[in-house]
Amino acid sequence: MTGAYKDLVDRLEEERCLSATDGYRRLLAPDASPEDIAYLHDAARRVARAVFGGKIYARALIEITNRCRNNCLYCGLRRDNSSLSRYSLDTSTIVECCGKAYEAGFRTFVLQGGEDPAATVESICSMVAQVHGLFPDAAITLSLGEWPDAAYAAFYEAGATRYLLRHETRNPYHYSRLHPPGMSLDNRLRCLETLKQLGYQTGTGIMVGSPFQTYCEIAEDLEYMAALHPEMIGIGPFIPHSATPFSGFPSGSVDMTLRLISILRLMFPNANIPSTTALATVGKEGRVKGILAGANVVMPNASPPEVRESYSLYNGKMCRGREAIEGLDALKRELAGAGYELSFEKGDFNYQYV
Ligand code: SAM
Ligand code: SF4
Repeated sequence: MTGAYKDLVDRLEEERCLSATDGYRRLLAPDASPEDIAYLHDAARRVARAVFGGKIYARALIEITNRCRNNCLYCGLRRDNSSLSRYSLDTSTIVECCGKAYEAGFRTFVLQGGEDPAATVESICSMVAQVHGLFPDAAITLSLGEWPDAAYAAFYEAGATRYLLRHETRNPYHYSRLHPPGMSLDNRLRCLETLKQLGYQTGTGIMVGSPFQTYCEIAEDLEYMAALHPEMIGIGPFIPHSATPFSGFPSGSVDMTLRLISILRLMFPNANIPSTTALATVGKEGRVKGILAGANVVMPNASPPEVRESYSLYNGKMCRGREAIEGLDALKRELAGAGYELSFEKGDFNYQYV
């Protein structure tokens, strides 16, 4: 192991931040040895254990619509993908999915979807209020993209307390290569700032290995997150979708995704960091590897089985077996095999841990 790499990991664990050029970029360098990388993962795993014990929080993911007004170049739900069969779940179906997840033990529902042109602030508030009224002891996380400040305030008022909105990249030029003209990084960042100010537990993050991404962009992302202090961080590899302009790009690296999970765990010991479906999709044993790198959340799919294939962000997306609520027993066994326990606690961000 190189002493310099070990020193950087130790410094990150102690100080929780590094400089972009001398710190993060060196931790991500392609010539790091397997021993160096193992040292990084060991440190992150130890920190996650100190905060969460051996618990892995379960969140039920309900994909409420695959309709989207936007045309992000990487995403299979993009407006111009005419090969997709589109759906939007009505409130009674969403409530039914939440009910099934609740019965299975879940106490967090993540309601995610595209920016459905038919959705209004009123329709989302009414749906959130119904779920909140029926399951008052469950946390509602929304992941419904960019809205005006007043809309986020109304969703919060209706009962949603957590919001996931990956910033995708903090570099304006990189952003402009991932999105069509008309979408703006400034607006994305405005949304994240508002969510924090309103008191949401706020999640952000990036795709690892998205087209045109370099170590410089990732280092900028880490600096941005250090300033934002997100309570949740979603990190998964980019995976191409055949009906998008990025169909010919390769998937992001599993190694780099795992290193980033570990770096972020050392930066944010208390943050809720999922081992993502994308990681499970590209990496053999990806879900467990994410946990052994410091992740503490899994999000089994609780959407109606008949629409799951249509929530097609990328090719080969896993939505069954251990990736779904029907496969909970297998998931529990998998986690137990790695020395962890699936927990249905709401797992609110723990501000106490220092
Ligand atoms: N529409 C909302 C938004 O964009 O924030 C929420 C749904 S969107 C599908 C959720 C996340 O999926 C995005 O933030 C993006 O990072 C991820 N995603 C989209 N296309 C992907 C791809 N090809 N590979 C990996 N992740 C992808
Ligand atoms: Fe729509 Fe989100 Fe996909 Fe962009 S990433 S096209 S906003 S669903």
